[in-house]
Amino acid sequence: MGIAEKIKDGLKTNIQNNLNKKNIKKILNIISSEPLLSAYGATFASKSDKFLNIYSIKSLQKAYSSRYPVAYGSLFLPFELFHALGLAPFLPEVIGGFTGGLGLADRTLKEASSRWYTPDLCTFHRSASGAVEMDLFPEPDFIICTNIACDAAQKTFYIDAGKFGIKDRFYLIDVPYKKNEGSIKLLAKQLENISADIAAKMNKKIDMEKFASVIDYSNKFRDWALKANGVRKKLLFYPKYFNGLNFILPFHGLAGTKEAADLYRNVYLELNEFLKVQESIFTNTGNYKPEKMFKGRKIPCVDNLKKSRKILWMHLKPYYKNSIFTMLEENNYKIVFEEISNVYWPRLDPEKPFESLAVKMLSNPLNGSIENRVNAILKMALDYGIDGAVLFAHWGCRHSNGGARILKDSLKNIGIPLLILDGDCLNKNNSSEGQISTRLQGFIEIVDSRIQD
Ligand code: SF4
Repeated sequence: MGIAEKIKDGLKTNIQNNLNKKNIKKILNIISSEPLLSAYGATFASKSDKFLNIYSIKSLQKAYSSRYPVAYGSLFLPFELFHALGLAPFLPEVIGGFTGGLGLADRTLKEASSRWYTPDLCTFHRSASGAVEMDLFPEPDFIICTNIACDAAQKTFYIDAGKFGIKDRFYLIDVPYKKNEGSIKLLAKQLENISADIAAKMNKKIDMEKFASVIDYSNKFRDWALKANGVRKKLLFYPKYFNGLNFILPFHGLAGTKEAADLYRNVYLELNEFLKVQESIFTNTGNYKPEKMFKGRKIPCVDNLKKSRKILWMHLKPYYKNSIFTMLEENNYKIVFEEISNVYWPRLDPEKPFESLAVKMLSNPLNGSIENRVNAILKMALDYGIDGAVLFAHWGCRHSNGGARILKDSLKNIGIPLLILDGDCLNKNNSSEGQISTRLQGFIEIVDSRIQD
C-alpha cells in the first residue's frame, strides 16, 4: 500500500470511528492547511490524482468552514453561477458518492430507510439524505437543483429545504425539453431571476464583472479538458490509478474556478507526457527495454499496446472496493473515455453569462430526447475507436437505465457490443460481485472473439 493510500485509510478510519460534522470539519481543516496539503499531494502517484484530491479537499473545506454562504447544488447545474455569486457549492449526491468510498454508506442508507426514504430511490440521493438526517453535511443557506436527467434531486432537495427551514431559498431550475432560441431565452431568464433573488437575499447586487471572470475561467477549464480529451483519442498508456470516473466533482462543481482550469491543464500535460512515451514505443521498438519504468508505471511493449481493447464507460461506477477495474486491466482492457468526461457545451460568452449558461445546460445530451444521448455516445464511440462499451446500470437511476436498451441497439448497429452491468454505485449489498465478474468475463470473451474474427 502506498503512502497516499495509508493516509486515506487513516482518515477513513478516523471518520468512521467519530462520525459527526465537527470531526469532519476538523479533519478537513487539518488536511487542507498548506504544509499538510502539499505533503499529502506529494504522496500521489500521478499529478492528475494529486490535483484532483487537493482541489476536492479545498472545495469541501470551504463548504464546511462556516465562512461562506453554502449552496447545495445538484450535479447538472452550471456551477459557474455559484462561483459568480460567491456561494460555496456543496453537491450532496456527489458527496453521497464519497460515503461509499469512506465505508459510511451502510449507516447513511440505514438512516434514510428509518426515515421512510423509499428503497427505489437512487442511493446517491438516499445516502445524501441519510447524511443530512444525521447532520453530517454543512448547513445550506440556499438549495438549487435542476431536473436535467435526475428525477431525484428536486424531491430530496425540497425535503432538505424543509428540514433546514429554507423553503423560500429553494430553487428548481426547470430546463425546457428542446434546445432552440425560445428555450434559451426562457432558461436564461430563470438563471438571471434566481441569481438576482439570491443576491438580494445576501444584500448584494449581481456583480457582472465577477460573472465575466468566472466565465473566462470556465472557458479555460473547457479548453484544457478538450485538449486532455483529444490526447485520450490515442492514449493507451495511462498514469497510475488514473480513472476519469473520479473527476465528477471538479468537472461540474468547480467549473468557473481557477482550480478547475489548473487541474485540467495538469491532466492534459500529464496525459500528453504519457502519450509521448507511448509514441516512442512504436518508433523505437529496437531500443525497448521491458523493465523500463515511467512515473511508477512499467512501460508496455508494442504487442501489449496493439492488443489493448478500448472501452467507453457510460454512467458511473461503484465507489466501494470492487474488482471491475482490476479485471479490465488484467485483460488489457483500457477505458479510453467516459460519458461523464464529454465536453458537450460550446465556449461561453462572458458578455452574456446567463444565455451562455442556458446554452450549456440545454446542450447536455442527457436533456431532452434519448436521441441526444444516443448521438453523443455514437460520436464518442467513433472518435475514440472503441471495441466495446459498458453501461453501469445503477439501481434507481430511471433516466440512465431507461435509455439502456436503445443505446445497446444503436451501438449494435455500428458493430459495438454494449454490456449493461446491473449494480449499485454505493450499496455493495445491492450489487452481486460474482454476477458482475461473470458478466464482465463473458463480455471480454465476446469482444475478444469479434476482434480475432
Ligand atoms: S444516478 Fe441518476 S438518479 Fe442518481 S443522482 Fe445521478 S442522475 Fe440522479
